[in-house]
Amino acid sequence: MNIMKFGGTSVGSAERMKEVARLTASCEGQKIVVLSAMSGSTNSLLEISDSLSKRDTEAAIELISHLEKKYLQVADELFSSEETRSAGYDLLREHFTYIRSFTRDLFTSNEVKCIVAQGELLSTALFSLYCRESGIDAVLLPALNFMRIDREQEPDQFYIKENLSRELEKYPGHSFFITQGFICRNAFGEIDNLKRGGSDYSAALIGVASDASEIQIWTDIDGFHDNDPRFVQNTHAIAELSFDEAAELAYFGAKILHPSTILPAKVAGIPVIIRNTLNWEAAGTIITDKASGKGIKAIAAKDGITAIRVKSGRMLLAYGFMRKVFEIFEIYKTPIDMITTSEISVSLTIDDTSRLSRIIEDLKHYGSVETDHDQTIISAVGEGIAEGSDAARSIFTALSGIPVRMISYGGSQHNISILIPSLFKSQALNALSAQLFNH
Ligand code: ADP
Ligand code: ASP
Ligand code: MG
Repeated sequence: MNIMKFGGTSVGSAERMKEVARLTASCEGQKIVVLSAMSGSTNSLLEISDSLSKRDTEAAIELISHLEKKYLQVADELFSSEETRSAGYDLLREHFTYIRSFTRDLFTSNEVKCIVAQGELLSTALFSLYCRESGIDAVLLPALNFMRIDREQEPDQFYIKENLSRELEKYPGHSFFITQGFICRNAFGEIDNLKRGGSDYSAALIGVASDASEIQIWTDIDGFHDNDPRFVQNTHAIAELSFDEAAELAYFGAKILHPSTILPAKVAGIPVIIRNTLNWEAAGTIITDKASGKGIKAIAAKDGITAIRVKSGRMLLAYGFMRKVFEIFEIYKTPIDMITTSEISVSLTIDDTSRLSRIIEDLKHYGSVETDHDQTIISAVGEGIAEGSDAARSIFTALSGIPVRMISYGGSQHNISILIPSLFKSQALNALSAQLFNH
């Protein structure tokens, strides 16, 4: 079994969907094609939900009509026979009647998930219908029948494997399956999702559950680049990455992969391959357990970081201080990204500030607390870079003149991270590319 995941841009128009059908149909062997919503759809559905939450029904109705028009045009361009086009219209009517039903009822936060799920449900329904019209024998497997997260919001891998196998067994002799990325059910059976960009994670989980030999992530760029192409020109695709390198880069902000994608693939030993839908010839990036090459492979940046400094005279030689501090973050289920300590203070960073005021109140029992918002973590990643001194020297040469708030070195052998004010992000990324990759 191969998993082939296509992101929003890859299925972003009728033309692109036709290309994906051509590409997937030309690949031999068993495959599960995992699709995201068409690009822009998830954002539009969130906007609709936002208007509904604010009880601005008029705005919601207008946004829904606008989105529906876009889909009607896709159906016009996608299908060639009157019969299939009419089936496409029926299908769109069904989904948009459902979305409109929320403009009449009282709107609850759980229903945002139901509305947002329509993006992936629509793209896969249209794609399946197009496959059928084109004579491609493909089976649509509803992800809501097998993708599930538990009470901790973690994927229920046992449930996913059991239920995906059961779904697949219903179709002996078939080799082409289509399913939705991103969406799932939660522990209460309600519609939920794997958070923004979560279709990559779906692909990895489905890959593990189906013992796939490859998890292919097809996107709009020819592989994992050595820096963020949205901020730096002349970035280059990296041919090979190790699971550890890719996981660090994804976690520290490389948008090309959802941060949780790599771990399940690593545990199961399934290679992840990043390919370009717009350029099938490009080799892309292969991510395996093999480490290759030396030095810094890539730079990533994670925005929206808040740094918290707790200063306590009593920290000096006091054991138990760190435990108490960390316990507070545990109680409020807030993960910490970076930590540095001195004799009398500890600084740490978080990206989820939803419980920040309560965290600060509790931290104040142990000392004075200062916060800095709008910070960015810049991470340099490469096997073993935090073992020698060359990488650190190059990084600090590149960053001279940029105020550095925190440094994390040696936490992992593959990562050196620094915290800077977000204002300097673009300057830092460009300076690092120039210094490290000679661009
Ligand atoms: P998809 O819709 O296929 O999931 P995404 O937009 O989520 O695609 O991810 C691909 C985009 O990630 C690229 O177009 C690029 O702008 C951005 N990106 C950020 N960092 C990197 C990187 N290091 N390498 C490649 N792309 C990156
Ligand atoms: N459609 C979802 C999003 O835009 C999931 C994904 O594309 O991976 O976040
Ligand atoms: Mg993505």
